[in-house]
Order: sequence, then C-alpha cells, then structure tokens
Amino acid sequence: MSEMIASCPFCGGAGLYTSIDNNGFYIGCASDPGVDDEVCGARGPVRGSEAAAIAAWNRRPVPSLAKEDAHG
Ligand SMILES: [Zn+2]
Repeated sequence: MSEMIASCPFCGGAGLYTSIDNNGFYIGCASDPGVDDEVCGARGPVRGSEAAAIAAWNRRPVPSLAKEDAHG
C-alpha cells in the first residue's frame, strides 16, 4: 500500500512525510518554500491509519495554486 501523496496545496512542494501523534497518523509538509529559512509546516487531518491520512490529505480542498499543475 503506497498511495502517492499529492504535492502540498500550500507551497506546492513534495517534501511530504507521514507522522503519528497521540490521535493517529497525519501528513506533514517539510518542503522549504525558500522564505525566511522556514519549512512549510502544513499538516493534514489526523486519521486512524497511514493510508487514510494520505487519502484525507489528497482529498483536501486545493487552493488556486494547484492549477499551475496543468501541463499544456
Ligand atoms: Zn507545503
């Protein structure tokens, strides 16, 4: 089970990782958008499994930024 994690809707980066806290799994963004030497830090919803966390991340509403993904 290795569903692709969609690129970050906030910074467009692909530096995403799966992590876990007391409540379950979540996807976090460690991409560096090149601003202020800080990583993006976006976090997806917490879910009961890694696969569900990835699915929730992939389905989250994407800002207009994602339109730049459309190739030709
Ligand atoms: Zn990001």
